[in-house]
Amino acid sequence: MLLLRPLTRRTVGVKLSARGLSSSLRLSQVQPQQQQPIAFVFDIDGVLMQTKNPILPHAPMVLSHLKDHNIPFVLLTNGGGQTEQARVDFLNSALSPSVSEADVGDDSDSTKLLHTSQLIQSHTPMKNLVDKYKRVLVIGGLDPQARDVALSYGFKEVIRPIDIVRATPNVWPYTRYTQHELTHHSLSATESKIETEPIDAVLVFNDPRDMGTDLQVTIDALCSDKGLFGTRRNSGASSPSVPIIWSNMDLLWSTGYPIPRFGQGAFRISTRELYKRLNDGKELEDTVLGKPWPVSYAFAEWVLGKEWRRINGSAQKGSKGIVPGLGVRPKEQLFKKVYMVGDNPESDILGGNDYGWETILVRTGVYKDGDFERNPKLARPTLGVFDNVWEGVSAALKANNIK
Ligand SMILES: [Mg+2]
Repeated sequence: MLLLRPLTRRTVGVKLSARGLSSSLRLSQVQPQQQQPIAFVFDIDGVLMQTKNPILPHAPMVLSHLKDHNIPFVLLTNGGGQTEQARVDFLNSALSPSVSEADVGDDSDSTKLLHTSQLIQSHTPMKNLVDKYKRVLVIGGLDPQARDVALSYGFKEVIRPIDIVRATPNVWPYTRYTQHELTHHSLSATESKIETEPIDAVLVFNDPRDMGTDLQVTIDALCSDKGLFGTRRNSGASSPSVPIIWSNMDLLWSTGYPIPRFGQGAFRISTRELYKRLNDGKELEDTVLGKPWPVSYAFAEWVLGKEWRRINGSAQKGSKGIVPGLGVRPKEQLFKKVYMVGDNPESDILGGNDYGWETILVRTGVYKDGDFERNPKLARPTLGVFDNVWEGVSAALKANNIK
């Protein structure tokens, strides 16, 4: 049954210990859970943050409260383009003003809101592809950060569009790269071997920053002769020359601008349409990760289990592998309930519902009141719609008699 009425938070009990936060903000007392705990999975943009700005005071209040009461949570975002460590360092400093620059990169500090292991970006599951593809073209995100991310995952050779432009400037004459970027953020033609070495796959890590260049080189790769740039195969197949894997298919995302902006999904639509036009009407075969697809929720469930073991001091130190394979669900049901908290019915809520989790929708992002009336097919949250993340989590705790 849908519950669309925002619940009022309880104000009995525990004083929040969030650093620098008002002590007048209170939440119902939560006892540490030993077995069958509930757990939370948070989207970031539109739930905890609006682009670079934290949603205050609710975002740090909620994370501090869950941390202080040993309730497991992870962040599952369709964003990306930087290393998990860099993103967590930024979030810790944005959400916990007491964290100084000198503290970044040190996960051992127990006062930090977030550990690096709690962040799942849309491309994080691509770690599982390093044994499958050796030389990859990584699209989207910034230079040089996006290359650093792929290398940090273990890919042996990482090619970026800027490398292709540097080696063959006529590949896209209208490119927006500056001379500084070309000099400092690209591989030389000798290093990149663009004209002699084929790529094994295209991985779209994040939204394009230069849509024209990225569209051109992506289509070039998909329609090439076995992945070699500057070549073209015979047209007419749905299967591209090299596989393409998208980290998400979000058409829109919330930036703080009054109207949601185009995301990676807009780039995917454009790529698919161009591929179709160049391949006798054949639909492109591709793979999509990220919300709302179950592969990302399964990955999050593994990470939640790891987080639960970390909280209980039973984490296996030094174990690098998180999941046995993309899309594989854990056999063990560690949690009584998992709540997905998001701002986007078509992404967070749809995927959470399909995966069998409880879902909480907030009003601080993409979703606007009246959306369900305008589009009755939108996925609806199982717990309800709430003004902010604090109200949503309060209702979930109350629903589980955690007081
Ligand atoms: Mg969002």
